Parts: sequence; C-alpha cells; structure tokens
Amino acid sequence: MLACVFEGKNEWQIREIPEPKPLPHEVLIRVKAAGICGTDIHILKGEYFQDFPIVAGHEFSGEVVEVGEKVTQFRLGDRVTADPNIFCDRCYYCKINKNNHCLNLQAVGVTRGGAFAELVPVPEKCVFPLSSRLTFEEGALAEPLACVVYGVERSGIRPGEKVLIFGAGPIGLLLATLFRASGASLVVMVDVSEKKLHLAKNLGADEVILADGREGEKIRKIAPQGFEIVVDATGIPAVMEREWEFVEPDGTFLLFGVAPRGSKISLDPYEVFRKDLHIIGSFAVKKTMQYSLNMLEGGKVEVKNLISATYPLREFGKALEDVLTNPDHLKVQIVF
Ligand SMILES: [Zn+2]
Ligand SMILES: [Zn+2]
Repeated sequence: MLACVFEGKNEWQIREIPEPKPLPHEVLIRVKAAGICGTDIHILKGEYFQDFPIVAGHEFSGEVVEVGEKVTQFRLGDRVTADPNIFCDRCYYCKINKNNHCLNLQAVGVTRGGAFAELVPVPEKCVFPLSSRLTFEEGALAEPLACVVYGVERSGIRPGEKVLIFGAGPIGLLLATLFRASGASLVVMVDVSEKKLHLAKNLGADEVILADGREGEKIRKIAPQGFEIVVDATGIPAVMEREWEFVEPDGTFLLFGVAPRGSKISLDPYEVFRKDLHIIGSFAVKKTMQYSLNMLEGGKVEVKNLISATYPLREFGKALEDVLTNPDHLKVQIVF
C-alpha cells in the first residue's frame, strides 16, 4: 500500500510499504481523511518520542475493511474514527484512572503506523462508530476535539465565567466553541491573523483582538478585572509569558498549546501566591472521544469551516508546505 513514511529527521517520502494484517483484537481501517497536526511536525523534526522510520497521522476516519477474529463490535463497511492513544490498562497510572499518563502508552501514528497511509490497523477498544451525519473530513477532527474536551473539562469552567484564548488556529477555535457550549458568558480571542479572527467571530467568539503590540490595553478594556480562565493555544513561550497576568484572582491559566520541549517561561511566584492562581496543563485525550463525537453529531461544535485545504496523499509535500508556510492555514487534511 502507499504510505508517507517519515524516514528520519526532516526526511520523508511517499512509497509502497507492506499491507498491515489486523491482529485478533484489531480493526483494519481504510483511511478516508487524516489531518496534519502540530505533533506530526514535531515527529518529523525528531522532537517527539518515537523511532524512525514511522508513518505518522493520528487524526483520522475511514471505513472498516477487515476485522481480527476477536473483534465483536465492528463489521466490514462500518464508518469509523479512532482514539489513537492505546492504554495498557495494567500499569500504575492506568489503575488509578490516569490512563493518559500510561507508563506503556502507545499511539497510532506516533509509536506505531498511522494514517498517512491507505490502511491503518487499530485495536478495537480505540475504534468509534462515525455517524452518517458527519463527513469523513469532519470525523477526522473528532480526535483534536477530544483533546479540547479534556482541556475544557480540566479548566473546571462554571456557567457565566469569562474566557480569554490566545491563538485562533483550529485548536483555539475549537476551544472557543466548546467553552461557549460549556457556559462561558464571554469568549475573547487574540491572534496575529485577521483572517483567523474573522472566522473566530463567525464561529461565536464575542470579541476578537488583533495581536499588534497593543492587545494588552484592549484586553483590559473588555475585562478590567481579568478573566476566570485564560488559555494558551499558541505554544509560543514568549507569548505564554505575557498571558497569565490577565487571569483574575482564583482563576485558571490553562497551558494548552504545546511549547518546545525544554523551553522556559518566567512568572512572578508572588503573584501566583497573592492571586490564588491555578496553573494547569492538559495532555492528549483521556476517554473524551465519545463526548467529542456527541458534540459533533449533535451539531454543538461545527468543524467544517476549520478545514482550510485537503490534498491527496501523493501531494503530501504541498500539504506540508501549506502547514509550514501559510500563516492563514487552519486544519490541513490528506484525503483518499
Ligand atoms: Zn493531533
Ligand atoms: Zn498503562
């Protein structure tokens, strides 16, 4: 089958690789859509925990073409998507319900073959039915939305709270929509791209602010006391450093964007003490995939407008260029 193989640091090629056979508990999926995510770029740059060569791609949907002999919930032709995270269900953290910190964590498209290929085998316990109300492209956004559901859960938002989000990429926009659906009274988004902010406004952000060096003043004008929840969805340490000062007392600073490993930010610990601040992270997906699908199927979160371009697998290079060089790109997908 045809696959895009990451051969080494910043090296990839489209080539034929052997067709995978599903193990007894696995479902073999013919990939229909697979999104390119920041994590894939980290993998390609050798900044993530994986070995080369690897077929990346962990946000996907497709059709079941073969099932292992122990599979009971899926049949040929089923439309499906998947949670790429494979928990061992045996280790210390799995036993105390911290599965996303599983000591033996495997992930489709990270530690094993992923969806930038025609076929991908996935353990049945990670496969989810995809409603016919959703397109495959929309279904491939269920995984990033599941990460966002987990982040919003962790923020502990209560009805009526105000939320400030830095970064209006696909993740920032998903966060905005979900915070609104979760009872936020005000959602403000900050970004450097006017185009993204325009979309943010259409998707339901109450206020959008262009990051032009004077954004601090504008933010304070909207909410002089600050925000209960401030979210970073940029992953840029220099930006993160300036965000936490907008958190109001007893509020939460959610670091959602993935910063480069080993990077540092400085913050005033006296202010953290004086303002009763909560600083939290959110790693991947923890059993939130079904909730993500519920939100998509129920029309509570619209993802169609988040897909800025689709490319066939053969044009992976063009797709990659779009992600790396077009400042207005949102979710870029490979379609089959
Ligand atoms: Zn991802
Ligand atoms: Zn485990």
